Amino acid sequence: MKELLKLDHIQKYYGNEGNVTRAIRDIDFSVMEGEFLGIMGASGSGKTTMLNCISTIDTVSAGHIYLDGTDVTEIHPKEIARFRRENVSLALTINHVPAKEIKARVQNIAQILKITDILEKYPYQVSGGQKQRCACARAIIHRPKLILADEPTGALDSHSAQMLLATMQGMNEHLGATLLVVTHDAMTASYAERILFLRDGMIFTELRKGNDSRKVFFEKILNVLTMMGGGQTNVCKTDL
Ligand code: ADP
Ligand code: MG
Repeated sequence: MKELLKLDHIQKYYGNEGNVTRAIRDIDFSVMEGEFLGIMGASGSGKTTMLNCISTIDTVSAGHIYLDGTDVTEIHPKEIARFRRENVSLALTINHVPAKEIKARVQNIAQILKITDILEKYPYQVSGGQKQRCACARAIIHRPKLILADEPTGALDSHSAQMLLATMQGMNEHLGATLLVVTHDAMTASYAERILFLRDGMIFTELRKGNDSRKVFFEKILNVLTMMGGGQTNVCKTDL
């Protein structure tokens, strides 16, 4: 398997002398193509900052981030927009895809995400969960290599959350998408193959699902959270 993403000892500081927030102290890890990686950690542990640095929304203070072999921390600001468009965000590359193919892809993804019935509706006519699944469809229609999701189930009820997660898992398994999903919820995290636990801008520990069932993995996640001091307050859904 190929390495898709590499964070090489990145640091991120906000503010200036006398008033510095060390959002990321030192984070170093790699993600292989096709992995489903969860990122957990208490509020303020640096999860969003890390995702923003990977997507080039933000810049690192030190270290390097390689995406598909390209050092995104070295790209000229002008190049960043193009790079983002092609790699991470909602690409317009779909323009190059023939109309027939687009239609087929829309139908296929709509079916997977169960939004076929609402394709012709206006946003005010659909629920929050349906909107989130539409956003997911938009993000995956052009089959990006890497999907970064920050609390994707945050606004969803537990049923919608599980549907979205099963879909993301399907994208990972069937379309080969590499997923980085930030969550504070153990149930959501239990869908990942590997979880990095952040604390104070550093990796506290890592957990791999291996051959465990999702239920066993879920229990192990809870144990790590308890050990980290986040404890049971981080858990709101146990309906596995
Ligand atoms: P998380 O997503 O894990 O809750 P964040 O990455 O949002 O954490 O924040 C990590 C730390 O960096 C926090 O202490 C937060 O207050 C600080 N931080 C985040 N963004 C900024 C910013 N733009 N300016 C100053 N401090 C920031
Ligand atoms: Mg955050």
